[in-house]
Amino acid sequence: MPKNYTELRQILQAKEQNLSHQLESIESRVLEEGVGYSNHMADAGSEVFEQGRNVGLRRQLTRSYEDVQRASKKFDDGTYGICESCGGIINTPRLEVLPAARYCITCATRLESRR
Ligand SMILES: [Zn+2]
Repeated sequence: MPKNYTELRQILQAKEQNLSHQLESIESRVLEEGVGYSNHMADAGSEVFEQGRNVGLRRQLTRSYEDVQRASKKFDDGTYGICESCGGIINTPRLEVLPAARYCITCATRLESRR
């Protein structure tokens, strides 16, 4: 059964909360590691690696968080489910898989292949 937009909005809100918690916890982990780095020089190599990994993860989470926030805002604008490229309607099955999708499948495929 296709989900309606109200359900999709709830999914997005849950995702937004989840991502903001994940970002908070990674934020504090990166800070702790910053302290550990200066105190334990012997482990510096692995800690730098670990920190780099967290920074990469944080960047990734931040991007998803921004996508989700952008999508939530579209509910207020009344533009949710509308492709940002061609202005067409994004299929509901696609939104169920990717609630923060910005493009319809046609545009997403076209933009992908252009890279
Ligand atoms: Zn499109």
